[in-house]
Amino acid sequence: MCIFCDIVEGKIPSSKVYENDYVLCFNDINPVAPVHVLVVPKKHFANINELASDPEGALYSAEITKAIAEVAKIKGVSDAYRTINNCGEGAGQTVMHVHFHVIGGTNLTEKLI
Ligand code: 5GP
Ligand code: ZN
Repeated sequence: MCIFCDIVEGKIPSSKVYENDYVLCFNDINPVAPVHVLVVPKKHFANINELASDPEGALYSAEITKAIAEVAKIKGVSDAYRTINNCGEGAGQTVMHVHFHVIGGTNLTEKLI
């Protein structure tokens, strides 16, 4: 059982921002900024390592990249946004279906790196 697969399949509702054949992008249920969207591939990959090693990884990675830029455009933050992926529990990953946080609409000058 995977909560993001359930969201992709419509079994759990979400606030959709953008969708195509490869990705679903929806507002995070617990936003950390005015713009906080999750970009989720419709195929289940546990994390970025699995995405990278899958035969369809290149296809989905390209679609994810395009979707991130599209989400930023839709939300009006193309000039300043941050994309975050947590890989593994030790990095804070809590949902084991790879996803990318698109965060913006606030002061992003504080940086970890
Ligand atoms: P992670 O900590 O794995 O990088 O991020 C998981 C994110 O998924 C968290 O920011 C959390 O708020 C979000 N999330 C968890 N469950 C749901 C849900 O059912 N709906 C939505 N929209 N977001 C969720
Ligand atoms: Zn899944």
